[in-house]
Amino acid sequence: MPPISLLPPATRVATWIGRVPRAPDADSLRRRAAALADRWRAEASEETAWAGDADDWQFPDAKFDELAEAGKLAATLAAEHGGAGLGTAPGTMPTLLRVLRHVGRGDLCTGRIYEGHVNAWQLLRAFGKPALLARLAEDVREHRHLSGVWNAENPAGALRVIPRPGGGVRLEGAKTFCSGAGHVQRPFVNGRLPDGRVQMCVVPMDEVRTLHDADWWRPMGMRGTASYRIDFTGVELGPEWLVGGPDDYEREPWFSAGAMRFVAVHAGGAEALFDDTRAFLARSKRTEDHFQLTRIAEMAGAIETTSLWLGSAAAAWEAARDSAEAGRRAIAHTALLRMTVEELCLRVLTAAERCVGARGLMEPLPFGRMVRDLRMYLRQPVPDLMVRRAGEWALATHPLVPAHGLWPGGEETE
Ligand SMILES: Cc1cc2nc3c(=O)[nH]c(=O)nc-3n(C[C@H](O)[C@H](O)[C@H](O)COP(=O)(O)OP(=O)(O)OC[C@H]3O[C@@H](n4cnc5c(N)ncnc54)[C@H](O)[C@@H]3O)c2cc1C
Repeated sequence: MPPISLLPPATRVATWIGRVPRAPDADSLRRRAAALADRWRAEASEETAWAGDADDWQFPDAKFDELAEAGKLAATLAAEHGGAGLGTAPGTMPTLLRVLRHVGRGDLCTGRIYEGHVNAWQLLRAFGKPALLARLAEDVREHRHLSGVWNAENPAGALRVIPRPGGGVRLEGAKTFCSGAGHVQRPFVNGRLPDGRVQMCVVPMDEVRTLHDADWWRPMGMRGTASYRIDFTGVELGPEWLVGGPDDYEREPWFSAGAMRFVAVHAGGAEALFDDTRAFLARSKRTEDHFQLTRIAEMAGAIETTSLWLGSAAAAWEAARDSAEAGRRAIAHTALLRMTVEELCLRVLTAAERCVGARGLMEPLPFGRMVRDLRMYLRQPVPDLMVRRAGEWALATHPLVPAHGLWPGGEETE
């Protein structure tokens, strides 16, 4: 299938012009995200470090107020709706990945849910009808409504989307890992049509009755994401809530390459761990030890490698707008990105655990939670398939593309 445009048709530039605030530019988006992350980390004092993890965990509501205030929720909207087209307008992927890294560095749970919001808006911009876009954009601007993508199936069976007379649908079944349950007001809830194809639906959560199973969510980490199992059986939606056509959700290269967003959040989590580990060693005057220095060097290398990878991933995404071949390359590159950064994050985790030792992994210090959060969040869909894809790409070209030209930025692709 040819790559689809992530740009909205000109017809969507409608009545909003003149009624919307000016969108922040890339530099200010990055700077504000960095400042927020710095503050959240500074505020995560030893007493509060466990919020989001212990039994009295809290959803990071206040952080979303601040993200909204800083323009981060609306930044994903199109310019005509008062946004910056972050992640959809050409050239914005490097900024988006930077912003996601900062938000993840500030707080991984917030990063996870914010990434879902961005994902949803990328889908809306690509496939949403103008009227729905306008309505949801207003929800973001006026009510700071969050979006998300709740796609993970319930092992008991896929959610069914049953067409009804008049073009609407009825939902039957449940979704799992619904991040931001109770807080995300406009999630994508995708399900299977009778012919097995996937249909995207946005569910206005405040207008329907659903069953939230909070007990289902007893994770090792990332508890503050409130990623419950939700049963949507009986929800009826008018045609205005359907987005795109059957299987549009999995349109490539955006479906697979979109994984770079969560990789960026993971990278932020690893950066936070690195920063706190260094601070811990400095506080405990253990900065001269050869072994500690070696581990810190290993962590520093992993962080920088991740950063370089994300830079080339953003370049691959931007290039994928131009040709189907570049799209296929972006998919393979993202597979390799996932594989590589997962490994690097695991190394950072292990090095941090060894650096701070058992004493560092005790409350009220934050390391235990940070380690659990990142280890949990690193578990993403089909990691084995990603390894396979990367290998297949590297072997698929005939004659073989030389190593220096295989990936974006290589000599053959300049
Ligand atoms: C904190 C958090 C928040 C999340 N929020 C959301 C959300 O809001 N929306 C959403 O849609 N999802 C969400 N998810 C789910 C996420 O996107 C993944 O779907 C989920 O984490 C994958 O679970 P798993 O590791 O058990 O997957 P599995 O697919 O079961 O993978 C486990 C292992 O089995 C392998 N494997 C997979 N398939 C097969 C097979 N057929 N045969 C053999 N081996 C196989 C995999 O490669 C892997 O090694 C969230 C996850 C987390 C951790």
